[in-house]
Amino acid sequence: MPTTRPTRNRTPRPTRNRTPIPKVVPTIGGHDKWIMKEDRLHLIFLDNLSKDSLWRDALNYSFKNWSNPHLLPNIVTMSLYPMSTNLDQDCPPIPDKIVVCDDDYGSTKWKGVNLMYLNEDTRIVASLVKFNNFYGHDMDAEEKLYTCCHELGHGIGLRHWDEDFANQDLYNCMDYTNNHENNMFPDQSNFQALRDMYKGVSRRNLKAVGTTMDKEKERLLRRDLDKYLSQSIDLNTIDLEVWKVIETSDHDEVYQRRLDNGYSIRASFLLA
Ligand SMILES: [Zn+2]
Repeated sequence: MPTTRPTRNRTPRPTRNRTPIPKVVPTIGGHDKWIMKEDRLHLIFLDNLSKDSLWRDALNYSFKNWSNPHLLPNIVTMSLYPMSTNLDQDCPPIPDKIVVCDDDYGSTKWKGVNLMYLNEDTRIVASLVKFNNFYGHDMDAEEKLYTCCHELGHGIGLRHWDEDFANQDLYNCMDYTNNHENNMFPDQSNFQALRDMYKGVSRRNLKAVGTTMDKEKERLLRRDLDKYLSQSIDLNTIDLEVWKVIETSDHDEVYQRRLDNGYSIRASFLLA
């Protein structure tokens, strides 16, 4: 049985040395939608990267690719803002935002991770993207761009397109690949998925598709959200008593854990 492992800085990849577990346990569905308050979704990315970050070019370029107004669903827009005035090294999640950070997190075995916070309706309410400079320093521009595009894709709510690293490239960054140069950008199929997810969403049928909630319910959940977002998540130690394994391979690990009131966190690691 999986057991809790002690926290050590050198304890890198969460599953190393643990009892073998099934490669795949039942997944929890397809792509994930962001919560919407009105009849539009404005996704805000916050650049909380370190000064002179080696990821900034990749972030700017990947954001430009993902935010293409000609390809996004017509109710979705995206913005990227710097967090220059309030740089927080702890990289806390912020409601309704995708916060992007980097640091030298050590030999964690992951080069990028997305933490997705979901409410009881499994709508995304906050998202964090972290890049590990421990590996980033040795990456070429292509690998950084692939990694950044991939993690932003998770931040937006997309899952993997393909989980076989060895097969033919799909030429989009949600593909698993060893050929970074072929998969550095989102492609038409990624945007088609987004258009399908947000198709036909209007003020009138928001409730029907479950992307919004009534004001009182929102007020109560907002009250609790700060509490959940302030919980520190130790990415060096994944306690398998509380984290459910969604998928693992030599190249990625995805876990999900429940919080109170139906909230949950999903952590998607892209391994170095
Ligand atoms: Zn991934």
